Amino acid sequence: MKYIITILTLVLIGISCTEIEYNVDPIFEPYVEDFTEEARKNGLDIDLREEGITIELSDVAQVDVSGRCFTGLNQRRIVINKAAWLGGFEDFKRRLMFHELGHCVLGRGHRNEKFSNGIWKSSMHGSPLTEEELRTAIPYYGFRKAYYDAELFDETIPDPDWANATFDINEVDEQQKEMIVEEQEINRFSKVFSQDIEDYEIHTSFFFEHELPNLTALLWESDMAKYQLRMGNGLYYLVVSDDENTEWSIFGGINAVNFSNASKVSLTIRRQDDLEKLFINDKFIFHFDALPGSLKTVRFDSTLGNNRFNENLHIEEFSISRLTR
Ligand SMILES: [Zn+2]
Repeated sequence: MKYIITILTLVLIGISCTEIEYNVDPIFEPYVEDFTEEARKNGLDIDLREEGITIELSDVAQVDVSGRCFTGLNQRRIVINKAAWLGGFEDFKRRLMFHELGHCVLGRGHRNEKFSNGIWKSSMHGSPLTEEELRTAIPYYGFRKAYYDAELFDETIPDPDWANATFDINEVDEQQKEMIVEEQEINRFSKVFSQDIEDYEIHTSFFFEHELPNLTALLWESDMAKYQLRMGNGLYYLVVSDDENTEWSIFGGINAVNFSNASKVSLTIRRQDDLEKLFINDKFIFHFDALPGSLKTVRFDSTLGNNRFNENLHIEEFSISRLTR
């Protein structure tokens, strides 16, 4: 009997320590509301004020992660790394908060499956990850965001159309291209346009005379957004900056481009049919939201450490064409 009473006492103490409470730092409120709204759209009625949750900022740097979810008896607590949050931008914050709420509220674990084209199936991907997977960006951006938001609430949803979309480099023929600029045998390229350029093709073929640690970037931008393809040290990333995002990697990872000595690479970027399409060595790689606005600046160059210009970049050809229908 005494034994039973002791257990009961412990249980009662346990419950009294973890009574349901709602304790969310006001900076997270909009994201929590956004989450419950998305849940409602997906047929889930979640009232976190009633169910209780604690979401707080922490100064304690967590190894490799920006947030963490802790659960226990009647307890759900999300801790967000302060530095990561304050340095973050809109889509990053939304994805981070939705991921942690996915753990803490929806009870989801990590899902590390990929579509056949190598793109993550879920924004709930996470440890354990290989070194390569850690570096594989998730395209939480533009038209793909809605899928990831919906998948959070239902991991059985069908693959989105874009999972298997593919485009042919030859779908545009030469007559549709009206050349605006063409340069050959250069080390860097830079051009600012004053005329309106709607659909376009940016094309280059290049190689490195010697392989050196470097950052090589193809940048193309309008007044509204900046797109960049960054390559170096065996990695390549497609990076977006716009009103809502600051240097957000939406695609890329390891080993997509062979930069070994004198191995020629060609890049083709097209804005067409409201899409931006990337081809590497004439092979379709990725499509994403069209650059908003008229093309204003295109730059392609390579730098060594300390921003020193890398003359090793041998651009055989660089051209920009206007595309007509
Ligand atoms: Zn996680």
